[in-house]
Amino acid sequence: MSSTHRVYSYSAVLMGSPILLKLFSHDEMLASRVFRLIRQYEDLLTVNRAHSEVMNINHAAGQHAVVVSRPVYELIRCAKAASVLHDSAFNLAIGPLVKRWKIGFHGDRVPPAEEIAALLARTSPQEVILDDEAGSVFLTRPGMEIDLGAIAKGYIADRVRDYLHKEGVTEGLINLGGNLQTLGAREGGWTVGVKKPFDLPEALVGTLQVENRSVVTSGTYERYFEQDGRRYHHILNPSTGYPLDNELDSVTIVSPDSLDGDIWTTLIFGMGVERGCAALRARPDIEAIFVTRAKEVILSSMNHFRFTLCDEDYRLTDNIV
Ligand code: FAD
Ligand code: MG
Repeated sequence: MSSTHRVYSYSAVLMGSPILLKLFSHDEMLASRVFRLIRQYEDLLTVNRAHSEVMNINHAAGQHAVVVSRPVYELIRCAKAASVLHDSAFNLAIGPLVKRWKIGFHGDRVPPAEEIAALLARTSPQEVILDDEAGSVFLTRPGMEIDLGAIAKGYIADRVRDYLHKEGVTEGLINLGGNLQTLGAREGGWTVGVKKPFDLPEALVGTLQVENRSVVTSGTYERYFEQDGRRYHHILNPSTGYPLDNELDSVTIVSPDSLDGDIWTTLIFGMGVERGCAALRARPDIEAIFVTRAKEVILSSMNHFRFTLCDEDYRLTDNIV
């Protein structure tokens, strides 16, 4: 942060992720209210415990519809809409495969191919049935499971931003383990690092400067395991059931809402650089920074941020298309 003003940082571990809140005034009460808000959303949305509203839906798969609270319903509606786009890499019904692979959790191993094939049959987003009037969700097939891991942190980051606004905070930052949302800016904006894949945690490929924007990164280097000399990361290809395999190490999305950032990191991961840049031409509010295995950094555009390359192993290209 480039500011002469003092910044106060508050941290916690929630949703299995390091959470960081930055404010310009010392206010521990506000920080604990922010962490409580995040915890409330985690309690509604988690699939890492036996009970939550999302787990109630999953437990009733193949049996009956479940009425959920409005925020959970709206988030699921949004996740389904992203999942049914043509050729989408995003799938809210990917749960059975996520649970089976356990990537980033104890006991992660490559499952037998026939198990993956059998589980794929339980991941159709079309079989997530929504009833707007009742506010209910029904998974038509037994064994189906919703997983909001690719969207929930973005949604929650926006809710924290809204809460801080409501509390009269005009400048601040929330980082939910790679899902970052900023409020306001002083003296040139917030400086946000883009991590160097498979390197030390503090190593950066470059830095971004943003104001009033969200910055969301998804990468192959945070949650993965190795088996027989191959690396398996946590973003699964919904059509094969295996980790998405393309030229990318990471994608960072800069956008007004973190919800869009979270959805688009996954969509773009599936598209790769060329199709990703083409898709973003229709969305000038959403911009991508691709970091490739070949050590290129490619910007889809740079209208709402500034980028500085920090690592000379990498080459910077803006928009190859
Ligand atoms: P993204 O790239 O945005 O999403 C990847 C995640 O989405 C995967 O981890 C998987 O969960 C899911 N996914 C994989 N492929 C697809 C696909 N094709 N389409 C849609 N979704 C996909 N982690 C813990 O270790 N312990 C916890 O207790 C824990 N609790 C959590 C509770 C909540 C409410 C949330 C939101 C997350 C929690 N997590 C926890 C982290 C979670 O397991 C994921 O690792 C995390 O959400 C990944 O976020 P990301 O932004 O890094 O990845
Ligand atoms: Mg995501």
